[in-house]
Amino acid sequence: MNWNQVEFEASYGLFSQIPPCETIEIAFSGRSNVGKSSLINKIFNRKSLARVSSMPGKTTTINFFRLEKVRFADLPGYGYAKVSRSEKDRWAGLISNYLHSDREIVLVFQLVDMRHPPTKDDLQMIDYLIDSETPFVIALTKADKLSKKQREERLAALQQEIPCAEQITMVVTSAETGEGMDELRSIIEELAAE
Ligand code: GDP
Repeated sequence: MNWNQVEFEASYGLFSQIPPCETIEIAFSGRSNVGKSSLINKIFNRKSLARVSSMPGKTTTINFFRLEKVRFADLPGYGYAKVSRSEKDRWAGLISNYLHSDREIVLVFQLVDMRHPPTKDDLQMIDYLIDSETPFVIALTKADKLSKKQREERLAALQQEIPCAEQITMVVTSAETGEGMDELRSIIEELAAE
């Protein structure tokens, strides 16, 4: 795939606005501030395909972009405490409507900050992905912030912290150093080739 040719398509704040699915889709999911925008920009070699914000919780839309036959969905970051109940409900509605829809979602990249145990919201998402049999890969973010020893400790702990960990593909990534990007790109390329 020519990673430089990704094109931004559109943003939607309501599930009902999203046009029908006519191609395979890969979604990116994670709590606010996990590093989702940074990771997306790194995969696609773009500075601001996804907006990296110093204000967590700003992205309240599903943003779509397209590369060749694959459409990517950047889901709104969840778990940001300082928003109103109604805004939280809107986010939850957007995410769950999207994931529950009959769209052809071939993979979800579920992001988890490698430095910390998964949050309650992360675990709820992971449980949902397992229960709904949605294929997913966990991208562990911000690996550059850990020493070699801390990284080993976190990798061992995650095996206990994440349900069915032994059956889940986990990729260690850093948007800072580019670690893991080739692996994420190969996963996408394989799906695009099917
Ligand atoms: P989002 O809310 O999930 O989209 O997170 P962002 O991509 O906006 O990142 C949140 C903060 O974490 C920003 O200050 C980023 O610069 C920082 N960040 C994101 N990814 C990494 C990473 O891999 N390494 C380091 N050191 N910082 C990161």
